[in-house]
Amino acid sequence: MSVGFIGAGRMAQALSRGFISKGIVKPQKMMASDQSESILDFMKKQGVSTTNCNIELVERCDLVVMAVKPHLVADVLQEISDFFTTDKMFVSIAAGVPLEVLETNLPEETRVLRAMPNTACLVHAGATVIAPGKFVRNGDASLVQKLFQTVGLCYVGTEDQLDAVTGLSGSGPAYAFATIESLADGGVKMGLPRDMATKLAAQTLFGAAKMVLESGKHPGQANEEQKSEEMKMEKVEKKVKMSSPQ
Ligand code: NAD
Repeated sequence: MSVGFIGAGRMAQALSRGFISKGIVKPQKMMASDQSESILDFMKKQGVSTTNCNIELVERCDLVVMAVKPHLVADVLQEISDFFTTDKMFVSIAAGVPLEVLETNLPEETRVLRAMPNTACLVHAGATVIAPGKFVRNGDASLVQKLFQTVGLCYVGTEDQLDAVTGLSGSGPAYAFATIESLADGGVKMGLPRDMATKLAAQTLFGAAKMVLESGKHPGQANEEQKSEEMKMEKVEKKVKMSSPQ
């Protein structure tokens, strides 16, 4: 299967790196189109073919990923629509562009899916939900899921879940960044160097997230266990203080 990215920016680069590193799609089977030569250089370095022509990409690829900014989607759809055939698959990662808009602007019965990834795909720790359109065939959604799993966690859901997904995992990194900053500020206030405080804060969130994911425990249960560990530590500290000479 050949995969093409219309728009070779940050998300397309992260996805292509994921596909290649996990051996799901070979670079020779990938193509990227963009108007910016400097952006395409990154793809060229990975061995991905590049073009400035979206129509050429559509003609040469079995699965086309729409990775331009949402306000450009309508123009690109108009440009490529006549060259799209129903043996191809179309995946849009453009935030907020509904399946209906994509399906009505592509030929009848085009196999369309929407994906809502998040920025952590850039470091292969993303969280994505994909929503299949009405013309997808058996196996299409699981194939696209497999592709997005190369850059993190990926669920197959429904389009009516995507607003909630956008609020949770799409915008979620912003809350985590604010939490890291606040924890680090607290550390700095208590005398830690800024760099150490930031890394300790980030690693703490990373570790807590990993524990929830790996143990499958409810975060509330993990929190209770953490509290009881802290109480044990306090008791030990008190004993040590009482037994040490004045
Ligand atoms: P980006 O700006 O890094 O990349 C977009 C690329 O599209 C640019 O390189 C631009 O030159 C190119 N482009 C513009 N017009 C074009 C055209 N007519 N034909 C071909 N290429 C064209 O943006 P990004 O962050 O990679 O986001 C891409 C899409 O992913 C957006 O629709 C966004 O909503 C979605 N998305 C991004 C994130 C994120 O964290 N970055 C998360 C979820 C969804």
